[in-house]
Amino acid sequence: MQHIKVFEACVHEFSRLPGIGRKTATRLALHVLKMKSENVERLSKSISELKEKTRFCSECGAISEGELCGVCSSPSRRKDVICVVEEAKDVFFIEHTGQFGGVYHVLGGKISPLDGVGPGELNFTGLVERVEKNGVKEVIIATNPDADGETTAMYIGRILKKFEGLKVTKLASGIPIGSHIEFADEITVLRALEGRREL
Ligand SMILES: [Zn+2]
Repeated sequence: MQHIKVFEACVHEFSRLPGIGRKTATRLALHVLKMKSENVERLSKSISELKEKTRFCSECGAISEGELCGVCSSPSRRKDVICVVEEAKDVFFIEHTGQFGGVYHVLGGKISPLDGVGPGELNFTGLVERVEKNGVKEVIIATNPDADGETTAMYIGRILKKFEGLKVTKLASGIPIGSHIEFADEITVLRALEGRREL
């Protein structure tokens, strides 16, 4: 087969993305080749700009344009109520409901023994520090309702036990957030927030 270096390089880059196999990567590279030049430019510009102009909030780990994200830097948000989520994208979803007045904490994943993710890989230390530092009154756990999400929730409950008077709650069960985010609508999330119960 004919070997075209530049095309292969592009396929290789796409295949490094999560969930993209070699077959899909080839299809994407081919698609780029068929695209209008200005659209390809727009795509590559938006990727570089994303990396240049956004980062993760130093306080909560959400996607941010500055050192602190809009939620953490807002004076109207309650710093003593923290909602713990698995991934940065989960923040967008809960924010979209407009019903949560506290701040977030992004773990960066969930404890998953099968995938080799232990507590050391996730930002639990930051959570404990924030609870200590900000006199937090409530921690709402919004991990996924799957086995790993439940394990993670139990782990959080355990590490926060030492804080007397701290309320640790969990979203009403069976509510898909996070990896299932696209399947949960705002009202479902709202109900989950309202129906949260103590761990
Ligand atoms: Zn933040």
